[in-house]
Amino acid sequence: MIQVAGYCRVSTDKEDQANSFASQQSYFRAYISSHPDWRLYEIYADEGVSGTSTRKRRQFHRMIQDAYAGRFQLILTKEVSRFSRNIVDTLSYTRKLRQIGVAVEFMTDHINTMDGDGELRLSIMATLAQDESRKTSSRVVWGQTRQMEKGVVFGRSLLGYEVANGVLTVEPEGAAVVRLIFEKYAREQMGTSELARYLTQTGYRTHRGSSRWSTGAILRILKNEKYAGDLVQKKTYTPDYLTHEKRANHGEVPLICLKDHHEPIVSRELWQLAQERMEQNNKHGHGSWGHSNRYVFSGKIRCAGCGASFVGRVKVRKDGTRVRRWSCGTAVRQGRSGCAIGKLIRDDDAMHMLKTAVQSLPLDIHAVIRNVTALAMDAVRATREGVGEEPEPLQRELEQLRQKKVRVMDAYFSGDLSREEMLTMNRRYEAQAEDLRTRLEAAVEGKRCGDGLERLQKTIRSDVAALLRFERESTALCKTVLDCLTVFPDRHMELRLRDLPQVFQFQG
Ligand SMILES: [Zn+2]
Repeated sequence: MIQVAGYCRVSTDKEDQANSFASQQSYFRAYISSHPDWRLYEIYADEGVSGTSTRKRRQFHRMIQDAYAGRFQLILTKEVSRFSRNIVDTLSYTRKLRQIGVAVEFMTDHINTMDGDGELRLSIMATLAQDESRKTSSRVVWGQTRQMEKGVVFGRSLLGYEVANGVLTVEPEGAAVVRLIFEKYAREQMGTSELARYLTQTGYRTHRGSSRWSTGAILRILKNEKYAGDLVQKKTYTPDYLTHEKRANHGEVPLICLKDHHEPIVSRELWQLAQERMEQNNKHGHGSWGHSNRYVFSGKIRCAGCGASFVGRVKVRKDGTRVRRWSCGTAVRQGRSGCAIGKLIRDDDAMHMLKTAVQSLPLDIHAVIRNVTALAMDAVRATREGVGEEPEPLQRELEQLRQKKVRVMDAYFSGDLSREEMLTMNRRYEAQAEDLRTRLEAAVEGKRCGDGLERLQKTIRSDVAALLRFERESTALCKTVLDCLTVFPDRHMELRLRDLPQVFQFQG
């Protein structure tokens, strides 16, 4: 006998009969009774239909505890997107449950976490959902992007500049230190560690007020284009705005660059000189292999001859197009005497092998699309920003603020408020109004483009479909599914996907 638990989310909305507790209960009971060796342990139900709408999920947590107590061996749940708060959580729960011998079956998605490829299929969904959340996030925060394009600075003060209300102003004392750093480094050819020692010993203060200077801090200053008067924003972005974790932007979202945006602290010529020096120092030293983990196949192609990883090199063809080619790292460094494998693999050929392997999986594309869309849409609704926001209430709020400001002025002129109080209140109202205007702009634009939730849903759907069919490449997806590609001396290759036992053979 297998003890089985059911987990569902129930709607408190009387209209929503399909998601009522009664209907879900009978659904589970019917499914369990069709398996003679299953016995129902309990049905756990939390209120709230969408994933993010339930914060507490008390029944869910009770169920996990019962699973650890060994009360059942299988959890039934309808869909991936309805199991947990978000897909990252889902994956971490299913992995932990698997370790203690508890399977999770997502009924309509035909995924059982104990199946050979159940885990991989979940990972694929997770990656796509995160990918979509990130894109959706950039669609949602476009209001902020518009502000950035107009030159409003989002960010904190830095050495030499104060940032207040989206405007950069030069702070003379810090600016002098910045100039000194550029002069010493670019013109006097002082090294960064020497410079750090010099600044520390002379008693200069960093932006945070510390008297200790590091080479890292100096490099950050030297690389900062703000000192030449330019503004580059979106150096970081939030790929998954469920977790609001920030990442460095390596071209995933467009950078916003404004030349001669504000008063420079050093001349463009001096700034450029410093950049050239840094580049030279980098070439002589290490770091030329940097950013390698941006590529799908970095560290994932192995040489069966010597055990080394393949390394990628870009080759520019005669017609100017670029192609990345991978070859054995030992062979690159030591030549034929180091490793006899001379095989070169083109990036697109490797990608084709990966595509072939993924497409041979019994992946229910429709289930993936349905779940990923549901998850991404939950995330959109959860942010309650821009998209879907109606302009009218925002307009009303703005009008109320305007009236409040009038009343403050009246009170000031009649002597009920001091000048200080009036200014403080005005500043507060102005900040609120600024926020409202940004949201209003996004809401109006959102309506104008018809970029409401429905349209967004369609975009996500077609996007996911394209990614799954490899019509468009997703580095994140490829990295998730690829375990390794091994190249043998007889030129045949073996590709493995993560969490899967089977090997895909290729002849090259
Ligand atoms: Zn080798």
